[in-house]
Amino acid sequence: MSEQSNDTNTSSNSGGRAPRRILITGANKSLGRETARALIEAGHDVWIGARDPERGAAAAKDLGGRFVQIDVTDDASVAAAAETIAAAGGLDVLVNNAGILGSKSPVGETTPDDLREVYETNVFGVVRVTQAFVPVLAKSEAPVIVNVSSGMGSLGRTTDPERIESKIVGLPYTSSKSALNMITSQYAKAYPEMRINAVDPGYTATDFNAHSGPQSVEEGAEIIVRAAQFGPDDPTGAYLDREGTVPW
Ligand code: NAP
Repeated sequence: MSEQSNDTNTSSNSGGRAPRRILITGANKSLGRETARALIEAGHDVWIGARDPERGAAAAKDLGGRFVQIDVTDDASVAAAAETIAAAGGLDVLVNNAGILGSKSPVGETTPDDLREVYETNVFGVVRVTQAFVPVLAKSEAPVIVNVSSGMGSLGRTTDPERIESKIVGLPYTSSKSALNMITSQYAKAYPEMRINAVDPGYTATDFNAHSGPQSVEEGAEIIVRAAQFGPDDPTGAYLDREGTVPW
C-alpha cells in the first residue's frame, strides 16, 4: 500500500486534528464497542448507537460515550437518532458498523427471504442511516463515513484460493457486503467533499462468528478507527483493511 499507509496512521490518536463527533451503529458490543472505546480514548466525542436501550446505555456509561437508540432497519428510529444528534450540535463521522450474518444455508437451499433479511440490515440499513445523516454530516467541516464491509464481499478475495475468504460459500452475507462496497463507491462519487470508505476488519473473534476468528477486537477495529479519523487529504471511495487496499 502506498498512499493509505502513509496518510492514515492510527498511532497519533486524533492525528493532531480536532476532536470529532462520531456515531457508531451497533456499538453496544464487539467491533463497534471496541471502535467506540478506541475513539473515546483518542479524545473524540462518541455516540454509542444501539437498538437495545439497556445494552446501549450500559455500554455508553462504561465507555464514557453518549447513547442514542438506533435500529438501522427502522425508519422512525433512524430519523429520531438523526434529529437527536443534529439537535445536540451535529456530527462529523458516521460509522455504519451494525451488521448480521443471517442464514448459513447451502447455496442451493437459500431463498430470496434469506437474502432479504440480511440486506435489510447490511444494505438497506446503511442506505437508510446514510440518507438520514448526510444532511447532518454536510454541516461538518470534514465529514466522514466508514462502512464496515468484509473481505467476504470482495470478489478478488473470495475467488483467491490462497485466501480464507474463498473457503466459505454462501449467498446472503457475501453478496450483501459486495452490494455495500458498490454503494460505498457510489456515495463517494456523489459526495466528493466527504471521505466515504469501506473497510474490512478481518476475521475477528466476536459473537458474530461464535468467537472463531483469529484476530482480537483491537486488531479488527484498527482500520475502522483509522478510517473514522480520516481528514480531507485522506482517500475516499477506497476499500481498506489494516494492511492496505482490498481488491473489490
Ligand atoms: P456482532 O458481534 O454480531 O455485533 C453486531 C452489532 O450490530 C451488535 O451491536 C448488534 O446489536 C448490532 N446490530 C445488528 N442488527 C442491528 C440493527 N438492526 N440495528 C442496530 N444495530 C444492530 O458483530 P461484529 O463481529 O462486531 O461485526 C460488526 C461489523 O463488522 C458487521 O458489519 C460485520 O459484518 C463486520 N465484520 C465482522 C467480521 C468478524 O470477523 N467479526 C469480519 C468482517 C466484517 P445487538 O447486540 O442488539 O444484536
